[in-house]
Amino acid sequence: MNSSTSTSFNKFLQMGSVIGDAELDEAEIASLKWNIPRYQQLGLLVPASPPHEIYCETCDEMAKIFYFNGTAQAACPKCGIYTPPRYQLNLWRVCYKPVIQSLYTGLGCTESTDLIIPNVLWKLGRCGVAGQSRLVYVARGINNPKTNASIIGNLPNNRTFLLLVFGNLPQKNACPDFEADRVFSINSLVSLGEDGLHTDTAPIRETLELLLKTALPKVRGPGKNAKIGDVQIKIRDRLEAHIIGEYDRMETCERLDMQYEFKTLLQKDFVKMLQVNKVMVHRAIREDPYVNDLFKASQDFDLMCATARHLLKEEQKALGKRPKPQAS
Ligand SMILES: [Zn+2]
Repeated sequence: MNSSTSTSFNKFLQMGSVIGDAELDEAEIASLKWNIPRYQQLGLLVPASPPHEIYCETCDEMAKIFYFNGTAQAACPKCGIYTPPRYQLNLWRVCYKPVIQSLYTGLGCTESTDLIIPNVLWKLGRCGVAGQSRLVYVARGINNPKTNASIIGNLPNNRTFLLLVFGNLPQKNACPDFEADRVFSINSLVSLGEDGLHTDTAPIRETLELLLKTALPKVRGPGKNAKIGDVQIKIRDRLEAHIIGEYDRMETCERLDMQYEFKTLLQKDFVKMLQVNKVMVHRAIREDPYVNDLFKASQDFDLMCATARHLLKEEQKALGKRPKPQAS
């Protein structure tokens, strides 16, 4: 493997932080220095349907594609009709399946890989690392507020799983919930060599071993010393994430014609998640009307849907504008 292969493959992995399908034409792929036949052979690039429109290279307007006598033609509002270059018509879709398979094998996972949110979250399996058995999840788009909420809503409540992310590691402001001892960038784990994809588990093993070595003796949870306000904020954030996550999962199941089962959060789940006592959780929910409303919404399907729609609208407003469309 030479360094230019590894850099261009890093860009491939990095693109995994974009949500949705990434489709690129052959000019864009050439600028990323991906070797199309090789990437295709490894299953990293899959041919996609030709585009309905392209950027006119003369004037930068969007030109519609139509077919005349079986030949693609571009209709540019400024330049008129012309035959577009081949490289703009050949589209390739980025496929991360081989990367996920390499992670599965490289980590020596057992149990089957489950797709939890299409294109966003996978339960990879279970692996033994640093003397522990851990569930492993893979996620994309972790720093996007909407995806982040549904990812958190669909992860187990305990703190023992490992999360492997495409692209950037979670940023503190976007996802305060994630801790360094269980989040790893796939960039540091998977590389492309002469004979295909390789997963190196050393970064995970070393981090976990170091943490185990330096871990302080477990002190009891904050218990009754925790301030009720802190607990309320934590419960509020978890409930919001859970509600948006459920709503998202419900919509996804509907779209894919899959069975959806409404999951509720119980007070005892918060006791476990936050390591505080039952009375504290009970009081935190009862004493804050907003948290109380959220809790009710997490128990009732119709309320959950209404609340999720409201939260998503608020989030959209807070963002000020719609996210930019992805590269296509
Ligand atoms: Zn034009």
